[in-house]
Amino acid sequence: MHRPTLAAPRSRSGVAAFGRVILSPALYSKQRRRVPAILTHELSHAHIEGWISANAFVRLPNWFKEGLAVMASGGGGAEFVSEQEARAAIGRGEHIDVDDAGSWRVLSEIRFERAPLGATPSHRTVLAYRQSGMFVAYLSDLDGAAFGRMMNAILDGRPFAEAVAGGYREDVQSLWLKFAQASAARK
Ligand SMILES: [Zn+2]
Repeated sequence: MHRPTLAAPRSRSGVAAFGRVILSPALYSKQRRRVPAILTHELSHAHIEGWISANAFVRLPNWFKEGLAVMASGGGGAEFVSEQEARAAIGRGEHIDVDDAGSWRVLSEIRFERAPLGATPSHRTVLAYRQSGMFVAYLSDLDGAAFGRMMNAILDGRPFAEAVAGGYREDVQSLWLKFAQASAARK
């Protein structure tokens, strides 16, 4: 299993809220190399948040919002967990809970179906970001036209489950199973 060579960040690197992007001061010194990816990641959130209503934004599942931001930024926010490590965790059943709606009660956390053993809270978060990014990228690679239909529905403020069904003609849980099988085959 690949071990990250850099220490995991102690706190969040950036945040987007109400269309404003705020970056951690750590990015201007020790973690300067991460700025372009983190900024792109946060701009992905700000873009969606600025385009649809606050309620529609909150109702999107957190794993999807993070996965989209990680994909759009080429891995921003997930730098400290490799795809190989994320795949190994999926193989052990330690994977994100692929729910199909977000809520006002859980604004940023991505829940796990089975919590990764021995992971610190920050490592768990980065693992969730990496798995989310890989799954969203898989959805895009699987069927670009379906992904486009889904994104258009999301940007129209439609609920996530409806957007997925309209794009792929199946639900997100069955798409996750396909992804997990494809992931296991790559090991
Ligand atoms: Zn994010």
